[in-house]
Parts: sequence; structure tokens; C-alpha cells
Amino acid sequence: MSNRRIRVRFAPSPTGPLHMGGVRTALFNYLFARKHGGDFILRIEDTDQTRYVPKAEEYIIESLKWCGLIPDEGPGFGGEYGPYRQSERKERYAGYARQLIDSGWAYYSFDTPEDLDHLRAAAEEKGVTFSYDQHTRLSLCNSLSLSPEEVERRINSGQPYAIRFRMPESLDVTEEDLVRGSVTFNTRELDDKVLFKSDGMPTYHLANVVDDHLMEITHVIRGEEWLPSLPLHVLLYRAFGWEASRPRFSHLPLILKPQGKGKLSKRDGDKMGFPVFPLLWKDPESGENYRGYREDGYFPEAFLNMLAMLGWNPGTEQELFTLNEMVEQFSLERVVKSGSRFDPEKAKWFNRQYLQKKSAQELARLVVPVLYSKNIDTTLAKVVEVAGEIKERCDFPADFWEQGHFFFKAPETWDEKAVAKRWKPETPAELLAIAALLETIGTWQAPLIKEEFSTFMNEKGWNFGNIMNTLRICLVGGTLGPDLFRILEILGKTETVARIRTAAEKINI
Ligand code: GLU
Repeated sequence: MSNRRIRVRFAPSPTGPLHMGGVRTALFNYLFARKHGGDFILRIEDTDQTRYVPKAEEYIIESLKWCGLIPDEGPGFGGEYGPYRQSERKERYAGYARQLIDSGWAYYSFDTPEDLDHLRAAAEEKGVTFSYDQHTRLSLCNSLSLSPEEVERRINSGQPYAIRFRMPESLDVTEEDLVRGSVTFNTRELDDKVLFKSDGMPTYHLANVVDDHLMEITHVIRGEEWLPSLPLHVLLYRAFGWEASRPRFSHLPLILKPQGKGKLSKRDGDKMGFPVFPLLWKDPESGENYRGYREDGYFPEAFLNMLAMLGWNPGTEQELFTLNEMVEQFSLERVVKSGSRFDPEKAKWFNRQYLQKKSAQELARLVVPVLYSKNIDTTLAKVVEVAGEIKERCDFPADFWEQGHFFFKAPETWDEKAVAKRWKPETPAELLAIAALLETIGTWQAPLIKEEFSTFMNEKGWNFGNIMNTLRICLVGGTLGPDLFRILEILGKTETVARIRTAAEKINI
């Protein structure tokens, strides 16, 4: 195994949008492949026609592209082991299923879905769960319970059948999981899973194992929810005689709800106001919209960094990693076993760190389209200046407008509470006097404006703090914003004076 080229795959089923946990699985596969100079493969596992959701595949691919996790092989990405969509590999699986029948590892089952529903309902009435397994199989309708002639007759007459795995009796299956360590399952409690369905399609289990073999996958890195399938998969490799070349397994811990209990679900995002999906998802059936990290203004680098820290412990205090740094430092041994609690505030914190790393120019380029969409007529130079001033007040590019709209648009209304607190009968006259003073200032730079203003205030004996707050209301419309004299400087003399005069005239108490 050691001299084989490392090949890993991300194998989502297009049954809906990719959950952020799925993106983390893709990321860990990507990091592992890059770290070992291997291949990162995307395989679409679309054998379950009943759960197929149109646009889900497109969504998965767009999400990977947005994150920069570009597969080396996959649908639309090329590669020598294709096709990479299981529905296009359909004809390959039947032969493998038959091989298992011939070797005694599988059998035909003729029970109809109605028969099985009936058995399930009857068991439920007795308070037990029906299981198609070594304890029940001989009382059911299959090639183990029927005579060979009867089996042949049914097959020849075209009766639909499924092919089931014949789970061995009481066998310990032990596997060294690269994240979880040694895990052992006893087959006594495991059911006889369907491998091949009556509709001519394989199930996930058969297709997944056959394709991992054919695609020469060396490591399966997937979510913990697949751990119960591990003994079946290990036995399938044994049944096919592929043990020597089979992949090693790693099961990643769950991402837990912010409260710490239970798996993070798409409903949690709605309830608590954070995205659970990488991109906006419009549910084609319900028409519901689920918010996405991209549309919420997250940077893909911040999103990936945040995801990596949900389950990977680099062993140091470092929290901020570029993708390349993650590649260098990543190892499966450092993936934690227990679930990781998702913290929406921490997600914002990551985005904030990445936004603060951007220069004013970069931030300006991100927000210019927003300004244009609001019909704001401005120059890039001014946006850069404002970006430099308010960057540290922003976690997302969208915060730019909230924090800096007044640089581009004069207030039309003024915060009533702030006005009620600050406005005195003498305020309009004081403001007009200040406007007159500002008009006389020659060099319009914050420190010089501040100096002249302070001298004037001292002469008048007016309350400095109070007047500053009042001025802010005139210029900004409320109480927010950075240093007041920087606001004056950026607005320019004409605009500043005009805003003060308008407020003095229009605000009545
Ligand atoms: N198709 C499975 C999924 O949707 C893949 C599980 C695996 O990686 O084996 O997650």
C-alpha cells in the first residue's frame, strides 16, 4: 500500500444541497490528497433514483468551486477512471452482484416491497423492529429458503428480485480506523443489506465498494454516520477477494448543534439565524430558501478555515490557516474523535479576521458594486478612503454600507432618540456658528480642523462633548461612525457645512 499513489474521493449523493459537514469532508479529503501528493476525486453517488434532487449535483460542484476545492477527477473535471457519476456506470454493477451470489456471499430475495411492509407493520404491533437477517432469512422468500428449481423458475419467469448480502453468523470484524482507532463489530446483530435492487440499480453499499476498488481509492475519509456500514464494506472487500488492495478507513466526527447536543441540522440554521449550507439553496420542491455562507458574505477562505477547526486539532494555538498551511500541517491522526460544537459567533470571528487582512483597496473593490446598485455616484478613491476608515468596524463586506452609508448619502432623517437627548433650544444657532467657522478653515485635514474647532469651543465656553455628538447627528443621521474629524475630512468642507445647515434648519423639537 505504501508505494501506491494516494487517491481519495468525495462521494456525495445528490439528494439535496451539500451540508457544511459535507464540505468539511471534502476539505479533509482534499487536504489529505494534497499533503501526500495524491489525487482528489469527486464521485457522484446517484444510484437512488427515488431520492434524486435536480440541481443538487450542480450545487455540489458549484460549492466545491467556490471553496477552491477543485477535484483532480470527476464529472466535468476529466480523469482516467470515469465515468464519475454512478448512474453512468450502471451496467458494471450487476456482474459484481452475481459474482457474490456464485461465491455464496449473497442471495436472491423475491419478497415484494408490500410483503416487507406487512412484516414491518406486524413487528411494530408487537413492539419489535423487523430485520431481514440471519434470524429471519430462512422464513422469508429467497434463494436460501426456496429450492434451486423454484429459484430458477422465478428468475426465468421474470419475477423481480433483489440481491442481498449474506451476513456471516457471529463474526468479529475489526478495523483500524485512522481517526477512531480500533473498532470491532460483531455480525450477529447486522442485517442482510440489499446490494442490488429490483430496478436494476445497485445500492449505495455495492456501488460504493465496487467503485472505490475500480477507482483505486487508497483512503476513505467520510462522516461518522457511515461507521455502521463499515463492517459490511470490509466484508464486501473480503467477499470480492480485494482485501490486499482495499482502502483504509477514517470516520470524521459529527458537527454538533451550537447547544452541543445532536447533529447540526438545516433547521438549526433557520431557527438561530446562521447558514448551514455553503451556497444559497432554493428547495425545488417546497420553494423554501436556505441561506448560504457565500450569500451571507463569508469569504471562502474563512469558511474553510472555520470548518477545518471543527474536527481538526493542529496541536498548537494557531487558529488562522491558509489552505496551503492546512495542507502542510494536516494529518488524520490529529482529527478528533468526539463531535465538534458549531459556534456561529466563531464563524463570524473567522470572517472578521480575513476581512481585516484585506487592504482598503481589496475591500473597496468588493463593495463598489453594492454602491453602484444603490445608485451611489462616487469614485474608487473615495471608497478606498472610507474602506480604510471603517474596515475595523466590519465583519462582512455588507457591513460596509451599514457602517459607512453616510459618507455617500446625506441623512434624510435623524435618529429621534439621539435628537431628543442632544437638541436644546440654542442648538440651531450654535450649529450655524460652527458652520460659519468651518467655512473659514483653509487646510481641510482632520488634525487642523480639530485644532481650530477646539479653540473656537474654548472661546465660546460650549460643552465640547455635547456639541460633538450633535454634530455627529447632523453629519451621520445618528450616533454611529468613526472619528468625527475624519468624517468631516472625508466628506469635504462643502458637504459638511451643507449638512450642518440642513440639520439646523430642519430638526425641530
Ligand atoms: N454517498 C455517500 C454520501 O452521500 C458516501 C459515503 C462514503 O463516502 O462512503 O455521503
